[in-house]
Amino acid sequence: MIKLFNSATRQIEPFIPIHGNKVGLYACGPTVYNYAHIGNMRAYLFEDTLQRTLRHCGYDVTFVMNITDVGHLQSDADEGDDKMALAAKREQKSPWDIARFYEEAFFRHTKMLNIQRPDIVARATEHIPEMIAMVKTLQDKGYAYESEGNVYFDVAKFPDYAAFARLKMNDQQATGRVEFDSRKQNQADFALWFSQSKFPNQIMKWDSPWGEGFPGWHIECSAMASKYLGEHIDIHCGGIDHIPVHHTNEIAQAECCFDHKWVNVWMHGAFLTVDDGKMSKSKGDFLTVDKLRADGFHPLAYRYFILSAHYRNELRFDYDILTAAQKAYQGLYEKVQEWQVAPEAPTNSPATQSYADEFWAALREDLHTPTALTVVWKVVKDETLSTGDKLALLTEFDTLLGLRLTPEVIPLSSAEETLITERGQARTDKNWAESDRLRDLLLKEHNIQVKDTARGMIWVRVLPPIEGES
Ligand code: AMP
Ligand code: ZN
Repeated sequence: MIKLFNSATRQIEPFIPIHGNKVGLYACGPTVYNYAHIGNMRAYLFEDTLQRTLRHCGYDVTFVMNITDVGHLQSDADEGDDKMALAAKREQKSPWDIARFYEEAFFRHTKMLNIQRPDIVARATEHIPEMIAMVKTLQDKGYAYESEGNVYFDVAKFPDYAAFARLKMNDQQATGRVEFDSRKQNQADFALWFSQSKFPNQIMKWDSPWGEGFPGWHIECSAMASKYLGEHIDIHCGGIDHIPVHHTNEIAQAECCFDHKWVNVWMHGAFLTVDDGKMSKSKGDFLTVDKLRADGFHPLAYRYFILSAHYRNELRFDYDILTAAQKAYQGLYEKVQEWQVAPEAPTNSPATQSYADEFWAALREDLHTPTALTVVWKVVKDETLSTGDKLALLTEFDTLLGLRLTPEVIPLSSAEETLITERGQARTDKNWAESDRLRDLLLKEHNIQVKDTARGMIWVRVLPPIEGES
């Protein structure tokens, strides 16, 4: 039994799927107007841990993620320009080219982080008819109204609107968080469809019953999630910032459309922060996986760092912390490599089973990855286990951690093999200067560490090769 924290009830609850063993999982994906920053990647890493845990527990998971390639305005509350249109202007490309470019970059980065690709990736621009159909249903049922060519959801018609995020509606309006818009009946109403009346120069636009235009961001997720996962969904995730606007609006429109509860469990990842607050794309200067690489960090060291904190706790990032994480990850990786050279036979001691139980129990308790990592280190340090036991355990744990700890041993290239043979020979010849030179060369240029052990010279790779690196 897995227990998960449900943002809707603010409690940790036993997870029970709607349809037997099948789990429908939806995650809000990237808005592809720029690179995803490492804060965004924290959200996708949390969702990756969730889907890996569910699959480990034997559930038949369908994991759907959207790509927002139209309709996300500068402000989540319907103000400003479409982020895609702005990026197109900034980079002098078409919004379509922008979308494909940053989508490709997104999947390149997620691959480097060993985030598994969702089963279904749904682009907003390829689901416009489904969105129009949903808006139409809402309008036919009286939950939505047209005003100057735009269609708005009438929040007054959904009495539970404020419940999910415990919003104080009057405060929200009084503080001016939502700018006054004369087209709206209530200022908290949100757009389901924008027609030309709002953005005459919008390039991405489609025919609709309300005129040529494009969908609002919130309707995109609801329409795509329901298309692939049905009208009642097990789990819907995103970053914590989605609670007050995006997910509040999604619940309102979907529940009014279907006339029943839409999502059973809402899960939200906490923010990655930098010293001056939350990391954000709109601030311009932000960190990407490519930047971490350029600064000498392995993407999986970042993955290790993220796993070291619980997904619901805010996490502070700086390079010193990442350096420490990389050191720990590298130490772990090297150990496993060493064991792989000539593993001792498994002992099948009862301790191995209790470590496995402890590891998976931590994950089943609301994805407690920090505890799971503690178990990893207990295994590494336990002198009573054979290296065969340790290898078996870490191989199993890595299906969840995704740290590529036990890749099939990557064969040496012929150049590497020659260098290692030459290094062995130099040592046999007691040519210490040459032996040291070759050892340093192997480390620096090939990421291979040679070690002189009681059983002779062995070699290990310092860190795994980076998947998907261009
Ligand atoms: P976006 O591409 O801006 O729509 O964001 C993609 C995902 O990243 C969403 O689930 C956001 O909630 C999440 N997110 C944005 N900023 C951060 C951050 N600094 N830390 C963690 N998650 C974030
Ligand atoms: Zn969404």
